[in-house]
Amino acid sequence: MKKLLFLSILFLTFQNCRKNPDIGASGEYLVDPVFEPYVQEFIAEGAKRGQTIDFSDSGLIVEFSDGSVQTASGFCYVGEHHVVIDKSEWTSLSEDVRGFLLFHELGHCELDRGHKNEKFSNDVWQSIMRGSPLQGTEVWIPIPFFGFRKDYFIDELFNPSVSAPSWANPNFTLTSIPDGEKEVVQTAENINRINERVGGIDGDYEIKIDFNRIKERTNRTKLIWGNTTQHYYIDIFPDQGFNVSGYFIGVRKEDSDNGLFYSTNTININGEELNNIIIRREDGFEKVFMNGEFIFHIDQQEMPISLVKMEATNSAGMLDPELEINGFEFSKIN
Ligand SMILES: [Zn+2]
Repeated sequence: MKKLLFLSILFLTFQNCRKNPDIGASGEYLVDPVFEPYVQEFIAEGAKRGQTIDFSDSGLIVEFSDGSVQTASGFCYVGEHHVVIDKSEWTSLSEDVRGFLLFHELGHCELDRGHKNEKFSNDVWQSIMRGSPLQGTEVWIPIPFFGFRKDYFIDELFNPSVSAPSWANPNFTLTSIPDGEKEVVQTAENINRINERVGGIDGDYEIKIDFNRIKERTNRTKLIWGNTTQHYYIDIFPDQGFNVSGYFIGVRKEDSDNGLFYSTNTININGEELNNIIIRREDGFEKVFMNGEFIFHIDQQEMPISLVKMEATNSAGMLDPELEINGFEFSKIN
């Protein structure tokens, strides 16, 4: 249920976020205090990049909608410097996504930007200005407006011709860890779930899981690593409805799952169906490998890792005991 809710937020966020003007330009500055910090951040980020953002001539209105904003989380009256945000959605968004939403709308309203739907070769969007119309499963691909990627996205917002960031085409490989540098701290075999406390690891580590994924059912398989309230996750589902299958990689913060990466591909990774995940923390990143192939990297988690959990559940949250985890290994890397 949580996942469906999140997906619909994603979906809603990027539809119809520009509207034709149907009110007159006011020239007034009327920003709800809730949004003021984001507007000030937008001005500051522009200034860092040599752009003076000044609403004294154009005015700016940023307000909550009275009711639901049709099918959007927010929208901008084009040419009107007027942003409207759906209140019920706003309260469900995490801080990163709120910042993203405001920056996207101010991109329309203040920077006169339209939508830009180009992706890097690894299927990550090039711009936070991505939006409707989106094709097919593109609608599920999140924008990783998070961690070390954020700066690039803000650069691109103010300068659409900025060059691609180094993370657009990373060539990490799964190197072998020399003997003596790896200390195995937990192992298990032939189990149907992982729920392991690993006791405050703040150095480098490796999580290695061999499994047969659940197929042909709506049940999701979720791997989390971090702690109970804040962690990274990989959420795999054969069919969650809405024509969506594949997996998300994301971050859970502030009681909200935020997707950072999405792929439909679980059937041909390095020539095989998805059956192996390795998480390697090294060089200040957490790198995700599937079937030995590098997939995605994220900032090193701020908190020590204390929990690794992987289980398959149905839509009611009941455990699916048919998940086959053939091998689990957690190691510290010294
Ligand atoms: Zn838009």
